[in-house]
Order: sequence, then C-alpha cells, then structure tokens
Amino acid sequence: MERVDVAIVGGGPAGTAAAWEAAQAGASALVIEKGIPRADREGMGPDSTDAAGLLDYWVDLMGFGPEDIPDEVILRTLDGADFVGPSASVSIDGTGIESSYPAFGLAFHRAKFDDWLREEAEAAGATYRVGDSVTGVDTSLTGGHSHTLSLSNGEEVEAEYLVLADGPQRTVTIEALDQFTGDRSMASVLDPSQVNHIAYQEHRDVPAEVFEPTRIKFWWGLMPGHTAYPWVFPNDDTVARIGLTMPIGLDIDEFDREHWALLGDDDERIPQGKEYIERLLEREYPEYDLADFPLVEDRGKRGGTETYAISSTRPIESPTAAGIAVVGGAMGGTSAFHEGGDHVAVRTGRIAGRLAGRERLAGYNQAWQNVLGDEILRNVTMAEVVREYTPADWDRAFDAADKMFNRGEHSMLGTIRAGIPGLKLLLEYHSRKRGFTSGGYVQFAESEYGV
Ligand SMILES: Cc1cc2nc3c(=O)[nH]c(=O)nc-3n(C[C@H](O)[C@H](O)[C@H](O)COP(=O)(O)OP(=O)(O)OC[C@H]3O[C@@H](n4cnc5c(N)ncnc54)[C@H](O)[C@@H]3O)c2cc1C
Repeated sequence: MERVDVAIVGGGPAGTAAAWEAAQAGASALVIEKGIPRADREGMGPDSTDAAGLLDYWVDLMGFGPEDIPDEVILRTLDGADFVGPSASVSIDGTGIESSYPAFGLAFHRAKFDDWLREEAEAAGATYRVGDSVTGVDTSLTGGHSHTLSLSNGEEVEAEYLVLADGPQRTVTIEALDQFTGDRSMASVLDPSQVNHIAYQEHRDVPAEVFEPTRIKFWWGLMPGHTAYPWVFPNDDTVARIGLTMPIGLDIDEFDREHWALLGDDDERIPQGKEYIERLLEREYPEYDLADFPLVEDRGKRGGTETYAISSTRPIESPTAAGIAVVGGAMGGTSAFHEGGDHVAVRTGRIAGRLAGRERLAGYNQAWQNVLGDEILRNVTMAEVVREYTPADWDRAFDAADKMFNRGEHSMLGTIRAGIPGLKLLLEYHSRKRGFTSGGYVQFAESEYGV
C-alpha cells in the first residue's frame, strides 16, 4: 500500500494549494483527483468552471502578491461592478477594502489557474494523480491517527493527515466526517441537495457595441429564490460568460409570477438555466436577437455551456484531532451571496497543507478564522440580509446604496442622503452581523466532533 504524510482528496484550488504547501513544508503529499475532461484543457484535470473573477483584496486573501498570478491566467483586469435591480441600479468602481492588487479585480481562466497551481505543487514535490476517485476513507485513531483511502481502481493509500478538498458535492467529506459526528450526520449540515445552489453558464460572443470589457454585472430581484441571480463576466475578445445561480428544487407556486421579471405568466415550473439566460438577454438587449449573441461552443464543458453545483451555506470547522482538515467548497467556504470562493479555497488549502506538513494541524480552525473571518462574516451577513428580499427591496437597496457609495461609503452624510432605506440597509447589516460575530458563522464546531 502506498503511504504518504498528507493525502488530499480533490485537485481543485483548495486541494492543490494544500499539496503545494504540504510539499513545501517537507511532507510527502499526494493529490487524488478524479479527473474531468474540458474543451479548454488537454487531458483530464480538476473540475474547473471556466473563467472566474477575483476582487482585488481576494488576491491578498489567497496569500499571493499581484505579481504572483501568471499573465496567461489573467483574461482581463476589471474596473468595477454594476448591480442592477428591476428598476434601480448601483455601480461601484472600488471594493473599499485595502488591497495590493492595482485594479478593481480580474477575470481569469480557471483551468489555467488550476493548472498553474498544480505545476507549482508538483515543482514543490507533491504528487498529483488524476483519473482515480476516492471512494471511501477509514480512519484509525489508535496511537495517533491514520487514514486508509480506498480508490476506484481498487488500490488503497494510507496517510497520516487527510485534507478533504472534494468541493461542494462532498462525495467523500460527509462520510469521512460522519466517523466522528455520532447520531448527527454531517449530511444534516452539508447535504449537497439541501445547501447547494445550481449554477449554469454559457460562453457567448457579445456584440462589440454592448460588450463591457472591464466590468462585471449582476442582476438582482429578477428571479425568485434566495441569492438567485444572473450575471455577466467579460472574458477574452468579446466573449462573455453569462450565467446564473439559484437554489435547487424551487417550487414556482411559492412565488408570485408577476413580481419576478424573468418569470412568465404561463410558467408551470421554474425555468431552466438556458431559458433564464435567453429571457435575460431579450430583456436587457431588446434591440438585438438572440442570434446576435452566439454560443461559443469550443469552451466550457459541453458545447459552450456548463452546469455546476455551488456551495451556498456557512462553513464548518474540522476535526483536527483526527488529523483531518476540510477546505474550500467542501467546508462551505464559497459565498452564497456572490459565489466567490476561489480565494477562500486557496487560503484554507494553503493553511491546512502547511499545518499538516508541519504536523501542527491542531491550529487549523483558528488559523483560517484569523485570516478569513472578516470576509466570511461579510459574506454570510449579506446572504442573510437579502434572504427575503423582494424585487422592490432590491430597488430600494440599490437606490440607497447608490446614494451612499456616490457620496462617501457609509459616511453619516451618505446615510442621511440615502434616507430611511439607507439607514435600514446599514442597520440591518450591522444587526445581522452582530449575530455572527465571535465565529457565529461556523455551523459545526470542532468541539461537536467526538474525537
Ligand atoms: C459557475 C460558477 C462560477 C463561479 N465563479 C466564481 C468566481 O467568479 N470567483 C470565485 O472566486 N469563485 C467562483 N466560484 C466558486 C469557486 O469555483 C469555488 O469556490 C472553488 O472552485 C472551490 O474550490 P475547491 O478546490 O474547494 O473545490 P472544486 O473546485 O469544486 O474542486 C473539487 C475537486 O475535487 C474533485 N473530486 C470530487 N470528488 C472526488 C473524489 N471522490 N475523488 C477524487 N476527486 C474528487 C473534483 O473533480 C474537483 O476537481 C464559482 C463556482 C461556480 C460553480
């Protein structure tokens, strides 16, 4: 049986970053990635949703400097973001958070990003095995901790430390953690069918005159469901990634069709992603035909389109006494509010890998909260604030935010000018935030594991 110091399940940003750090710390590190084919990658690799975005301060949160990300990974630098409601909107040209990255953010090629992380991990000495799935984990706590991983090819791997980086579907995480959760299955906290959203995106060539090369755009209050929204991200040339995210299994009868611009009076069920995107394009660009936005079929997973699960919940802590760290999407590190998660994935992976490599994993939960706590608190709070938002609430919020942002972020003057809606927005944010401070955003604490 192969034996390693640190075994990592999943070779996305979180798992690969963990392998990189563990190897740099001098440990033997093995990534097992089941391997997904993509139109934009030769051979199998991690399940990389194409072209993603990073805000300026996310680069710092990853623990990278602006110059660290290779040029070929970056598709564009961004100047700002537009948030559009049914009839009000707000545009921002800065995140308002101190950062070393010199632009508002960047759109990047996720497959190339993942491949770059893998090259770095391998250069540091990690081994990256693609094409086999981990099918189960058996942990022994006799005389320390050791983990036996069963692979789809029938082999087994033994490791002293285990990093679970299998992403939002948590194909291994839930069962591996259930070894220590007693009667309360981790599925009650992280069941993918309950706590994940579905994300659908298309690569489309956009008419040059309406293509916005340096801005990302989000529409809120057009489709029902908690944190359900479409977006446009510019990629290279005039190609944009146009997509949406929404909760799984919504019942259309729970929503008033008249209130939601992207629902039709005759809809018998919640529209599929493709239908939503077509309706968005028709609504936003009435002077064009859909044929003016052709699909770019040689990208993505299937003919220019991609469907993904995305984690939309709050993070858990890991049972470090068992030598296990859960990282990235698997731990619930992706924000329900804006889907951003690569920065949390990379940083939690790096911290877990470094600590496992140095045999000091006990510090993991505290360490990621020290570095990422503010970011997670912001994301969790915003997702809660908007939980019951109606289209009218979105308009009010954007109107208020527009006045505040355009007259000094959150200043008293801005608040006064934004009036009652502005005050309400701020008060609501602050009162929700209070409920999550002191680690209250963690939905399963280390102390709850029976280790
Ligand atoms: C459509 C979409 C758009 C997004 N946009 C952004 C964005 O703009 N910015 C941003 O920061 N984030 C974005 N995200 C979120 C971001 O993609 C995730 O937060 C990030 O991928 C999490 O990284 P990860 O390594 O934890 O998980 P993943 O990237 O999901 O990687 C998990 C890996 O584990 C492998 N795996 C799973 N099970 C097994 C198994 N049993 N055995 C072996 N391997 C296994 C999978 O094949 C996969 O490669 C987006 C997500 C989606 C779906």
